[in-house]
Amino acid sequence: RLSGVFDGLAKRGALSEADVMEAMREVRLAMLDADVALPVVKDFVNKVKERAVGAEVLESISPGQAVAKIVNDALIDALGGAGAVPITLNAVPPVPILMVGLQGSGKTTTSGKIALRLSTRERKKVLLASLDTQRPAAQLQLAQLATQANVASLPIVAGQTPVEIAQRAMDVARREGYDVVILDTAGRLSIDEALMEEVRQVRAVTQPAETLLVVDAMTGQDAVNTAKAFNDAVGVTGVVMTRMDGDARGGAALSMKAITGAPIKLTGSGEKLDALEEFHPERVAGRILGLGDIAGLVEKAADTLDHEEGERLAKKMMAGKFDLDDYASQIRQISKLGSISGIVGMLPGMGKVKEALGDKDLDTTILKTHLAIISSMTKGERKAPAIIKASRKKRIAAGSGTSVQEVNKLLKQFDMMSSMMKRFNKLGMKGLMRQGMS
Ligand code: GDP
Ligand code: MG
Repeated sequence: RLSGVFDGLAKRGALSEADVMEAMREVRLAMLDADVALPVVKDFVNKVKERAVGAEVLESISPGQAVAKIVNDALIDALGGAGAVPITLNAVPPVPILMVGLQGSGKTTTSGKIALRLSTRERKKVLLASLDTQRPAAQLQLAQLATQANVASLPIVAGQTPVEIAQRAMDVARREGYDVVILDTAGRLSIDEALMEEVRQVRAVTQPAETLLVVDAMTGQDAVNTAKAFNDAVGVTGVVMTRMDGDARGGAALSMKAITGAPIKLTGSGEKLDALEEFHPERVAGRILGLGDIAGLVEKAADTLDHEEGERLAKKMMAGKFDLDDYASQIRQISKLGSISGIVGMLPGMGKVKEALGDKDLDTTILKTHLAIISSMTKGERKAPAIIKASRKKRIAAGSGTSVQEVNKLLKQFDMMSSMMKRFNKLGMKGLMRQGMS
């Protein structure tokens, strides 16, 4: 949707107030379409307008790309900036984590997911406790999830109130040396005072290190009311957005962040216990802006890549002078595009492919390792990698927190790249194609 307007701007060639206003109308529609709450949209659009009008447009990019970049950057900022915020566990164990939210938002499932993640990735001893006395099967549901996740759950005792269960959970956890206690509360279909009072009491007796608000990404305009009510009543320290595997464009994420000020920490992307991911503001920004088509994807690539840097690298490649500094610069550019699964996630109907890729993010992990290795090298080493022998390799591996094997792998790969480039220079493009190397 946005690409059309931004192309129009490019042709006009200047970033006037009228241009920005027109683009902003489209941004506004795209955001409402993505279910961002109206007051949040208004506020965002006004802020970005101020930033964009009169902004300097670099020679190397078109005005349209400049607006797109300003909007995109502002949205990432508003979603909490780059990088995921982890769950806080820095308190005296057992650390209580309180799960709150409306009924059906995914609290119980997410409790199981977090338990699995903390016990496997961080080797924490986790106790799951259901305080849901509203629905008869709720406590059993959590106990089953605990079995699946291979963590403990608090034995069910009939007739206790949520506060009593919470107290018992903390007692058991203290006595039996648990690191984390996840307290799964009951929800209501809509906010009511009795629910809030119950959560307030549980909060008072357990003093949770985290109060995580679980919200369905499909929640549209209502997201604001939910977030406000829970934040006012109990104070939210983090948000989990579930059902990001659906068609929802994730506008609720922006509303949540704007209303609670608390970071979105995790996203749920399926019913299975391993379908929990860190929140990536840049991916959700892409979804909200409706860049979910191939044209938008290509445009994002074009926006993000610094053309001048690309040309400079190409020239060095052609001249056979490409070194490890240039390789690092190339990695940084690729990283700006996000990970493969992130990019795939923005394509409509690609949920299955994304599932297959899982949370692997293969490309960026390898690239990040390469960057770390290169930044542990001296200037001389980066210019002339041939001087890197055994003792230097050891030093570089230690400095970058990697291993000598990983340093070797990088050097070997760089060697291959360099020799390909040399052949390219000798033969030219046609020669390479004849050799079947294109
Ligand atoms: P609660 O009432 O807040 O405890 O919600 P539940 O955890 O019981 O979840 C309600 C339904 O949503 C269940 O059928 C879950 O399997 C499903 N669910 C939870 N999280 C996700 C998610 O991230 N994606 C999908 N597709 N379904 C989810
Ligand atoms: Mg539940």
